Amino acid sequence: MNAKNEAFISVPCKCPICDRESRHRYVKSKLYTPVEIEGDQHVVSYKWESPIFEGIHPNYYHIWHCAFCNFCDEKEVFRGEDDSGGKLELIREKLLIASKAPKSFINRMGGTIDMEQEYVTLEAALCSHLQAIYIQKILTPNMRQYAKLGRLYLRTAWLYREKTAWDMPYGSAPVGYASYDEFFLKLAVEWPELPLDENVCIDSAIEFYREALDRSKRVDDARYEIGVTFLLADLHLRRERLDDAAICIRHVFQNATSKRQGTRTALDGGISRGKLNEKQIESMRSLITWLNNAIERSKLFSDKINNMIFEKEYPSAREKLLNVQGLTVKGILELLKTEGFHDVTCKRVAAMFSRKLLEKKGQQQPEEEIPPPTASEDELGGEDEGGGFLGSLFGRFKKS
Ligand SMILES: [Zn+2]
Repeated sequence: MNAKNEAFISVPCKCPICDRESRHRYVKSKLYTPVEIEGDQHVVSYKWESPIFEGIHPNYYHIWHCAFCNFCDEKEVFRGEDDSGGKLELIREKLLIASKAPKSFINRMGGTIDMEQEYVTLEAALCSHLQAIYIQKILTPNMRQYAKLGRLYLRTAWLYREKTAWDMPYGSAPVGYASYDEFFLKLAVEWPELPLDENVCIDSAIEFYREALDRSKRVDDARYEIGVTFLLADLHLRRERLDDAAICIRHVFQNATSKRQGTRTALDGGISRGKLNEKQIESMRSLITWLNNAIERSKLFSDKINNMIFEKEYPSAREKLLNVQGLTVKGILELLKTEGFHDVTCKRVAAMFSRKLLEKKGQQQPEEEIPPPTASEDELGGEDEGGGFLGSLFGRFKKS
């Protein structure tokens, strides 16, 4: 037995669909600490308690698989800690029918998932995640669990990223296929929505998280809404939709600022009227601290987006101005705006020109007004676009 096996906890568990028992594994959480974490929570590297565990990928064990009926889901569902929002009966009914047909998608995909091999491979993890998504999508749109689908697509995006970024060998192929790529393409004939790369997964994650926010009954939960909106900003950034990312961040800033103000007022009023107990005071203070951090993080994020916009547009903005005679700050702003450059680029280029004017005039104050080179707080505090947050946030992101 390999020492690495000490990294796992193996438990017997009944399948919530077919009721048959098998053993499932997960990695002992006390053995590792995430070290490098990306903006969408993907862990790039871990620090392990002992080097013998290095090379294990805890995220490969996130989905459990029943080898009898090929049901795949998160371990909480197998353990009865998550009742799938009461939808499990519906899933059971449809899955048991599908699992009786040997050539059904469920059986073909499920047949390649080997969670009992010594270490779960990237391919097995990818197949188990795709199967879990397929099973969730058996439910009609109005019955779906949107936050869960968002999470499953996000985790699948991480797996595709790991496949590319770490240049991992794409495993031995399922029987009868030259590669997993070919296998997935064949399965996509039966299920055209099968996501074949990271970008498709990210777009679906955005779609389902957005739907989850729209439908959320937890609208008063600022932490949830802000957390998901930060995630959406990061995902838009990965897809190079800088404007959509900027809208998300502006919403975080405005939402957090207004929630902080409301909480402060309620806290001060409650204390002065003696209406709050210690626990309530503590919880409101902790929320204010959390919101302060969210506001700071939104400013940094906004600067990052603005820098990306500027870096992308500056070469062509410069090109536009090279042969223009008699430039003025106002003229630059107007010209670049007419040419469709982003506000950030217009202001920064104008500010660069102003500084040059200053140098030429021997540090005299120029006659023209200098726009601020960066104004993240002003930009963040700007008016929300029409149609409310969710309307503006996803106006450019068409529903499928
Ligand atoms: Zn089962």
